[in-house]
Amino acid sequence: MQVPFVDLKLQYQNIKADIDKAISDVIDETAFIGGKYVKEFEQKFAELYGVNHVVACANGTDSLYIIMTMLGIGAGDEVITAANSWISSSETISETGAKPVFVDPDSEYLSMSAEAVANAITENTKAVMAVHLQGQMTDIEAIHELCKEKGIHLIEDSAQAHFSEYNGIRSGVRGIAGSFSFYPGKNLGAYGDAGCIITNDSDFADKCRMFANHGALKKHHHLMEGINSRLDGLQAAILTAKLPYIIEWTEQRIANAALYDQHLAGIDQIITPKVRPNSKHTYHLYMIRAEKRDELTAYLQDKGVATTIHYPHALPNLPAYDYLNTQPSDFPVATGLESTSLSLPMYPELTEEAIKYVAECIKSFYNN
Ligand SMILES: *Cc1c(COP(=O)(O)O)cnc(C)c1O
Repeated sequence: MQVPFVDLKLQYQNIKADIDKAISDVIDETAFIGGKYVKEFEQKFAELYGVNHVVACANGTDSLYIIMTMLGIGAGDEVITAANSWISSSETISETGAKPVFVDPDSEYLSMSAEAVANAITENTKAVMAVHLQGQMTDIEAIHELCKEKGIHLIEDSAQAHFSEYNGIRSGVRGIAGSFSFYPGKNLGAYGDAGCIITNDSDFADKCRMFANHGALKKHHHLMEGINSRLDGLQAAILTAKLPYIIEWTEQRIANAALYDQHLAGIDQIITPKVRPNSKHTYHLYMIRAEKRDELTAYLQDKGVATTIHYPHALPNLPAYDYLNTQPSDFPVATGLESTSLSLPMYPELTEEAIKYVAECIKSFYNN
């Protein structure tokens, strides 16, 4: 049996009529940049997500950069982020001129804890970028309280956590702004690069919108220099076409994760994802920790099961961050994940048969 890591083609086949119509409408109207399809997506996503403002932009890396730049973060400042995140989280901090300060995740939920953040705060800390990895929210309420107490900004990198919740509140809405990626493999994915900023602050939304569009809200009225980070009409129309399905797809991911939990129970050599109490994990990834991870990966590949590692190197251990002079032992949990974490196939259309097969393969690997 072949089990791909994700199956974007199957998803397309299931909603082909909607997608094809969305694409041909944009071409018919040559609404390629900005315009009504981008506006429509911003409005519909804001309504569905329950946030006042959505500012579409080119990708989920730019959205982080735009948020921090519009908060005035720059040289001399420090921003705290997760050691086990994707490099967008930290490279955008550096891009503003500020210094990324990494915190090790907790060993249970593998996300940044308020305690770790508190220990990393210095007099130069300007913001905390809470990263909700794998679909599970960080200890966001305690981090939010801490930020308020210290007078520092809270930004949420929600690229892996569309519609995730903690205490009934969705990811991305607690701090000044949240950032989403709509990279094709994300829970809500475009057919190319796309991203957005969400915020409940209308002045901040305008600032971000202006900066993303060459510093102008109105054509030729450049109130500042900005960047070109626009969402194109095709991607916006494709995303809008997917919105009616996203809640159902999210529930299917959660149901698939429950099946994995059930079929993988009792295998002592692996640790399955643990869900923080009162939170809704939306399983962008179903990431296990496994003994003999590399041998298991090769075995699964042989059996037709595709897996991925998120990520082979913790951010502070990458050559890009040699200049920070940290040691792998400073980040024991994130460094440990380099050799143990394994993301299993996860997508809404995954069948129970496939999940059972993956679990059987894992059992047979450890039984031999
Ligand atoms: C995917 C991702 C991003 C960046 O998104 P792009 O749209 O690829 O630029 C940022 N942060 C995290 C945690 C991500 O997983």
